[in-house]
Amino acid sequence: MKHIALALTPAVEEVLQKYSVRGPRYTSYPTAPIWTEAFTGDDYAAALRQNNTVAQRDKPLALYVHIPFCESRCTYCSCNVIITKQTEQAEKYLAGLLQEIDMAAEFVLPTRPVLQLHLGGGTPTYFTANQLETLVKHFKKRFHFSEQAELAIEIDPRVTSDEQLDTLKNLGFNRISFGVQDFDPIVQAAVNRIQPIEQVAQMAQRCRDLGIENQNYDLIYGLPYQSLASFDRTLDEVITLSPSRIALYNYAHVPWMSPHQKEIDEATLPDGTVKFQIFSRSLSRLQEAGYVYIGMDHFAKPDDELSLALAQKRLSRNFMGYYVQHGADPLGELDMVSFGVSAISSVHGTYSQATKKLSTYYEALANRQFPIQRGYILHADDTLRRRIILSILCEGHLSCRQILNDCQVDISSMLSLESLKAFVDDGLIVLTDEGFTITPLGRVLSRNIAMVFDAYLKQPLQGETSPVYSKTV
Ligand code: SF4
Repeated sequence: MKHIALALTPAVEEVLQKYSVRGPRYTSYPTAPIWTEAFTGDDYAAALRQNNTVAQRDKPLALYVHIPFCESRCTYCSCNVIITKQTEQAEKYLAGLLQEIDMAAEFVLPTRPVLQLHLGGGTPTYFTANQLETLVKHFKKRFHFSEQAELAIEIDPRVTSDEQLDTLKNLGFNRISFGVQDFDPIVQAAVNRIQPIEQVAQMAQRCRDLGIENQNYDLIYGLPYQSLASFDRTLDEVITLSPSRIALYNYAHVPWMSPHQKEIDEATLPDGTVKFQIFSRSLSRLQEAGYVYIGMDHFAKPDDELSLALAQKRLSRNFMGYYVQHGADPLGELDMVSFGVSAISSVHGTYSQATKKLSTYYEALANRQFPIQRGYILHADDTLRRRIILSILCEGHLSCRQILNDCQVDISSMLSLESLKAFVDDGLIVLTDEGFTITPLGRVLSRNIAMVFDAYLKQPLQGETSPVYSKTV
């Protein structure tokens, strides 16, 4: 894939400014705000059941668990977390998860191979080594794990012990994601997440010593007191530590949705120009350091699975971001069966999300019901548009012929010059006989291009669309 050196010329800056609107990250289509509470736990059970015909006995599966507890709150965080130091909460939650696993396993053919298990949060290492072991062993008892399965976990270096790492290694975990965000002590203090570089470096090395080479660092730009120079120093450290993947997220300051973000003094946030500069510099520096730009906010080393999948057009997106598609069905999303509060599942043409409230979660389980709060059943137009959006975000082009082949729908009327003219004029796409290809600058703004094909967004290109979404750049 072509190197994207994004020199911040006045022309490029103007384009970035123009397209800096709020928009979905398309970890699903339709996106979560469209889902409704009319979708219940019974609908989820029905979707699980319908997806387990004998014909699907070898269809792969992904599992996700949300562990919502954290010992303290990082002020930028917009995840669903419960701040507590009462570790006894973990035992009750673990019991709930074990029950939920049993309930879901009843609906899943035991032959279906699990390709991924991801523990996210919150802080998954809020669970002790013993609790992690109980959880993962229960999964392995109730589901059939492929020998090639990826077992991944999000790690907070501040609260993870050597004992937990040893246990994870023994359980087969082969991918670790570190919440890093920024190494600058002033930025760390401003977001209530003090985490010296030595702590991260030590833990990364410890994981390598255990043989866990697949490491991801989450970084965030747009945090208080960040400057181009300060983030350059963070990049120096990150490049030296050499993780296999890097996610570089744009901080979404949405205090009306995440009230604790009010603790951040808005005057200390970098302005739009500085954010563009940080993103642009990061894009160049990470590629110069050998990373491949996967798309949106993801980078990976050339030998990482994501880079290989990008080259082989096997990339897709789900709630975990980009993932490697297995199997030939271009419309088939990898079924994801999820567990725990707020966890999102994607099964047999449906999306569903569990309740965010612990008390409601336990209540549903006590009644032997799936704790679903909202969801959505995709119809044919949704499936078509999801295919189009994935093509834009994951393959860097859109071809009418390919969509006709995959969906049996002629979309040429959706590709009128009128609807795409601005993208052509701004250098984001180049028209072809079959549709368009996305330019290097367009890949940075691929969310904006995808938004044109989103039937649920009213004004995708003008000003702010909805305060529920983060900015595209
Ligand atoms: S540790 Fe992670 S999930 Fe917990 S508050 Fe901080 S950013 Fe949010």
